[in-house]
Amino acid sequence: MKIVVLVGGGHAHLHSLSQFAKKPREDVQLVLISPAVHQYYSGMFSGFTEGVYGLDEIRIDLKQLAQKIGAAFYQDTICAIDANSRTLIGQHGETYPYDAVSFDIGSQTDSPEALRNYISPIKPNYHFPDQLIKFRKSAKPVIVGGGASGVELAFSTYAWRMRRHLSDALLFSSGALLSAQGAAVSRKIEAVARKKALPFFTDVTIEDIDATSVTTSTGTSYPQSDVLWLTGPKSPSLFEQSGMPVDRSGFLAVHETLQSLRYPEVFGAGDCVSIDRYPDLAKNGVYAVRQGPVLWGNLLNFLDGNALSPFVPQKRYVAILSTGGGEAFLTYGNWSVHGKTPWKLKQYIDKKFMTTYQTIYR
Ligand SMILES: Cc1cc2nc3c(=O)[nH]c(=O)nc-3n(C[C@H](O)[C@H](O)[C@H](O)COP(=O)(O)OP(=O)(O)OC[C@H]3O[C@@H](n4cnc5c(N)ncnc54)[C@H](O)[C@@H]3O)c2cc1C
Repeated sequence: MKIVVLVGGGHAHLHSLSQFAKKPREDVQLVLISPAVHQYYSGMFSGFTEGVYGLDEIRIDLKQLAQKIGAAFYQDTICAIDANSRTLIGQHGETYPYDAVSFDIGSQTDSPEALRNYISPIKPNYHFPDQLIKFRKSAKPVIVGGGASGVELAFSTYAWRMRRHLSDALLFSSGALLSAQGAAVSRKIEAVARKKALPFFTDVTIEDIDATSVTTSTGTSYPQSDVLWLTGPKSPSLFEQSGMPVDRSGFLAVHETLQSLRYPEVFGAGDCVSIDRYPDLAKNGVYAVRQGPVLWGNLLNFLDGNALSPFVPQKRYVAILSTGGGEAFLTYGNWSVHGKTPWKLKQYIDKKFMTTYQTIYR
């Protein structure tokens, strides 16, 4: 019997679990380790924030899912990897042996150390619901970060507050909104924000936060009662601290087969890895989902001594950001469209994704 350990219930691991449900292997003991019983789906975070979705719609019960398919579930946070003895170490010293292991543990928030006392942590993802329930009703909420997650949460927080006649939530971006997707996309989303009267500031960097305010690099202060810092992903410290091969930013370094550069029995997917052939690949749920089939196929190929397949990312993909009030902003490369149809499409895709996994155990 070979022990395959999945660390984290991220997107790619959900696929592995669903494939094991469809086609169990008598010779494999599948083990899932997660710090929380539930895995929360970030595609529905904006809908949850706006009040469109309830808690049970945006989460998957990993414990029930594992039990249903005959996998072992341990609620734990993996804090160290001893790759030589093929053992994982949990936060209270528990040890988990493996013949093959995969990490899909997401990323951390890239917030400055000195400001952390004033920032509401939403990562790992199981922190999100409680933090957002507190944040959206706070007196003076502030969002820092003009990328997809910052923009989406600003729109959905704003929509939730407007219905309750609460004061504005402020959005600060060090560049244009959605600048990574090009000038045309930025112009369009900023026009949508202006039309909806969402208060946002571009080309403004937040340099300091104290108990009651945020201060920009030019010295201007704005009142704050709660801050969400969404400026981009940071690697979990686990890999570097355990002496695993990592990229310059500390993400687990893997080949395009999603296999560690040094340890063939170690795999990884999603935000927590850096693929040597695609070092600049965006960290988002789209790629984490797409890596799922390659990861599970390669874990089995590795156990069976077969050749491994490469993950080949598509160059462009559809991304849909909720803008609140039953509308969304769809981008494909540098093309974009805003309105009710993208929101309907987003709801359809997100609900379908969740149903795939929830129906296994419900
Ligand atoms: C507000 C917001 C909205 C977003 N919206 C979208 C969107 O609409 N579309 C999109 O494509 N992307 C979106 N993203 C980005 C997306 O959330 C991430 O890219 C995606 O979740 C990464 O998936 P993952 O599978 O790598 O890990 P995750 O989904 O983050 O899952 C990782 C899991 O590992 C667990 N874990 C963490 N550390 C450990 C450990 N040490 N041991 C064991 N388990 C651990 C965590 O608890 C978690 O369950 C959004 C991000 C945010 C913040």
